Amino acid sequence: MLAVEMLPAGHGDALVVEYGTAADPHRILVDAGTFHAWDGVRAELLRRRNDRYEVFVITHVDEDHIGGALALLDDPDLRHRVDHVWFNGYVHCASGGNVLGPVNGEQLTRRIVTGGFHWNEGFTPRASAGVGGPVGVPRNGPLPAVNLPGGACAVLLSPTGAQLKRLAPVWQRVVVAAHLVAGAGAPGHTGSPRPHVKHVPPLPNPLDHAAITCLAAKNAADSSEANGSSIAFVVEHGGKRVLMGADAHAPVLAGGLQRYAARVGEPRPRFDLVKLAHHGSNANISTALLDLIDCRRFLVSTNGDNFAHPDDAALAKIIEAYGGGVTFYCNYRTGRTEPWALHGPGVGATVTFPRPGKQALRVVA
Ligand SMILES: [Zn+2]
Repeated sequence: MLAVEMLPAGHGDALVVEYGTAADPHRILVDAGTFHAWDGVRAELLRRRNDRYEVFVITHVDEDHIGGALALLDDPDLRHRVDHVWFNGYVHCASGGNVLGPVNGEQLTRRIVTGGFHWNEGFTPRASAGVGGPVGVPRNGPLPAVNLPGGACAVLLSPTGAQLKRLAPVWQRVVVAAHLVAGAGAPGHTGSPRPHVKHVPPLPNPLDHAAITCLAAKNAADSSEANGSSIAFVVEHGGKRVLMGADAHAPVLAGGLQRYAARVGEPRPRFDLVKLAHHGSNANISTALLDLIDCRRFLVSTNGDNFAHPDDAALAKIIEAYGGGVTFYCNYRTGRTEPWALHGPGVGATVTFPRPGKQALRVVA
């Protein structure tokens, strides 16, 4: 069994990857949503009474991924579920967006170090005696693949060393402005502004194939250093594959997928589920990327706040790439996703939401 549950993480991600058997389940936690969404994520995590996580992956420093993570590592009812943390701190960026991100990164660094968690254990070259190396992809050679308890394998696709290095000067600048020392860690929890609603034009009416082609022609590129540093990976278990895209940049993911194609001997690797990068932003999805992904089922994790994700152009690109027959699993019914549920079937796209009364959506690969 391999499944992903999307928790109500606001405009961010909080994802539980579950694998193994009913009698012996194992889990990976990927991010913990925004701080504003933390109460909802916390309630869902507490509902899953016996969870422990083989690894807690904090994909990058943006608040919609790290905000809840800071709260989780402080939480007396949850922190014991975590032993291993994968997170690229300043020390990893220096060796190897969001203006609040690196400050939150310092605060997370403090919690990992003082909390006694294993940090990037097994990754080389080690940052220090107690801290493993960057979680990322080397310039050459096979992709790093980590065997996890319970028989799953996590194969890294992003970031590259270059992406981490690009974030380092930004991190330095931001934390110095906050009177902190890069890499030293910091106490507290710097909050983020209240989310807002961004208004975008409605879906074309009618939503027909010509409209899809027109929408899909819109291109954009994500230049955020923080997003570029995202830890993206494939979870393989029992012949199934799930791609966890974090907020990774499309060219970086495409580079990783070319190497993954060589690993599995498939020119366009098959995936059972793909968690769309950056909440379905058009800036993180390209035709070149989709040419390297054979999948029909996509996870969209966002409530649409701040950035009005997912972008219509991104969903249109996916429909266009596969000629329809695709399903989008969305953890929120919003003004962005509801129109696709209504009009998507006419162009070959189905939208699935959490069942009434449920806050989370679990999708089996
Ligand atoms: Zn994000």
